[in-house]
Amino acid sequence: MVKTTLTSSTNENDGGNSVDGSTSRGENKENNDNLSNDIGSRRFEKPIQVADKCMARRIDDTWQLAEIIHIRPSLTDDTGSRYYVHYVGYDRRLDEWLGIDRLKPASVKETNEASIRPDIWSLAENQERKVTRNQKRKHDEINHIQKTYAEMDPTTAALEKEHEAITKVKYIDKVQIGKYEIDAWYYSPFPDEYGKQSKIWICEYCLKYMKYESTFKHHLTICNHKQPPGGEIYRKCSLSVFEVDGKNHKLYCQNMCLLAKLFLDHKTLYFDVEPFLFYQLTEVDEDGCHLVGYFSKEKESADGNNLACLLILPPHQRKGYGKFLIALSYELAKMERKIGSPEKPLSDLGKLTYRSYWSWVLLEALKDFRGTLTVRDLCQMTCITEEDIIGTLQSLNMTKYWKGQHVICVTPKQIEELLSSPEYRKPQITLDTRYLRWSSQKYSQPLKTPQKSK
Ligand SMILES: [Zn+2]
Repeated sequence: MVKTTLTSSTNENDGGNSVDGSTSRGENKENNDNLSNDIGSRRFEKPIQVADKCMARRIDDTWQLAEIIHIRPSLTDDTGSRYYVHYVGYDRRLDEWLGIDRLKPASVKETNEASIRPDIWSLAENQERKVTRNQKRKHDEINHIQKTYAEMDPTTAALEKEHEAITKVKYIDKVQIGKYEIDAWYYSPFPDEYGKQSKIWICEYCLKYMKYESTFKHHLTICNHKQPPGGEIYRKCSLSVFEVDGKNHKLYCQNMCLLAKLFLDHKTLYFDVEPFLFYQLTEVDEDGCHLVGYFSKEKESADGNNLACLLILPPHQRKGYGKFLIALSYELAKMERKIGSPEKPLSDLGKLTYRSYWSWVLLEALKDFRGTLTVRDLCQMTCITEEDIIGTLQSLNMTKYWKGQHVICVTPKQIEELLSSPEYRKPQITLDTRYLRWSSQKYSQPLKTPQKSK
């Protein structure tokens, strides 16, 4: 297919009944047809096709260059076609279905401008603000700015292209789970008839998914579960964690993966759940244990991964649950006497959460320590890998490379300052190990920690 870029009819004569897009609205007051909003000032010269680029109005009312990914013909006479768009240069999480009322042709200028990524940091630099590469990365992560294929190595680019081809269109727009209706972020491979719905309903206890609200309501009257399957391994106040074995509760765990994929771009595990354990985090009230998030981990990881996948459902994000589950994953690792790291790649949110968690743990470990401490000691104390420790300390500007090895270089005052900053302060919810009921079958020895002074 030939890729076409639609341009505005600004300077072309197309029959005399279009309004010049470059003219201000004030000058066109007499033309009532096209004055209601900006959309009317330009119109498409030919039907929109897949791969066309045009301007699309986002939820915040800004116009962005977007590519048409898919077109769904109108279902009834009064509703027009729906267009699935990807905003050029932005994370696919923002892809969405729009009506024609939120689309307009792009001018050549707009098409060109959008191909140059807006760089807020270069503006900041003009204001003599020094921006480190680290801050730039963080900025990109927060704003969900995607790497272009050109910025990736060839293998990654090829894999990314394949991934995109398979997961281009997100049909399921909304999911109802418990009392929450949540916007879906990404494609998830729900079986055919379910995967083509714009909304699905999920039982928060058994995770059965349904196409219709009526089925869902009926299910709630007959479902006899009030909590996840498996055993409860942690309960403190209203917070509870269940350990679910993928082998014993296959369908539940598969459903968990399908649900999680709606919010994670890169995730490949859907059906082969048997080698995994799932840790379901719930909020408990008189009605039952309500799922708020989970993490999965391989029972035996050849790569030393202590966590495979982590998700906090969007209504429960920013409550500290992500860090709580990360802390739990390291606590279990300590009991197994295994040093480990999360499976890569991490999502953008995952990276930020881990970096912040590692920083806090390391700063806490260093805070009261007097004497000599190596990266290896820290590794033994925390079960965080040497690589993750070095990366974190470097981002905190706390290492020097000295005679072929990394040396930690920090004063108590610096640590105090960092710990009082919002980024590295104590997590909102900390894991209280007194309430953890879990024992590893294989390892019963407590992990050795280095002596505090020599
Ligand atoms: Zn149910």
